[in-house]
Amino acid sequence: EMNKKLLLDNLRCIPDWPVKGVNFRDVTTLFKSPEALQEITDEMVDLYKGKGVTKIVGIESRGFVMSSAVATRLGAGIVLCRKPGKLPCETVQESYAKEYGVDTIEIHKDAINENDIVLLHDDLLATGGTMKAACDLVKKFHPKKVYCNFIIELHTEFPHSREQFDKDVEISSLL
Ligand code: 5GP
Repeated sequence: EMNKKLLLDNLRCIPDWPVKGVNFRDVTTLFKSPEALQEITDEMVDLYKGKGVTKIVGIESRGFVMSSAVATRLGAGIVLCRKPGKLPCETVQESYAKEYGVDTIEIHKDAINENDIVLLHDDLLATGGTMKAACDLVKKFHPKKVYCNFIIELHTEFPHSREQFDKDVEISSLL
């Protein structure tokens, strides 16, 4: 059973950041606590052990942290999903609409193959725009299965975010 109180006690909320009206959930305080970091790692390992995950795709940059901790425990590799211009080799890209303008993310072309079982991970689900784009990007590689995981899902603020994902994508969040 996950110690939810431990995680909530170590999560910091910053009102009106980065802009007025946003209540930003700061996960750096979760990562800083040895106990909370251990708890998140154990919970994610419990959720995905035995599912045959071969690659964890971490979303830049807060998604990299737990991807690393969990991949070593599951015996999976790590793939970086990054903003354009950061990866040195040939990439596959996906663009998505943001509130103002368009964003693009990319993954190395040789990072995922058809035999992979992929777990996508990011720290937080809000509108879901970022993770939907990451899912669509990963699906271009035709992996055997796609899982999606977040530490935090802002379900009260964004109740419909899960609806945009393909039905075959299994989504979970810790908080
Ligand atoms: P979405 O695309 O679901 O609207 O926003 C999620 C993305 O924005 C994630 O990559 C996440 O890191 C970032 N994000 C948005 N709001 C927050 C927040 O309150 N706290 C943190 N830590 N990240 C956020």
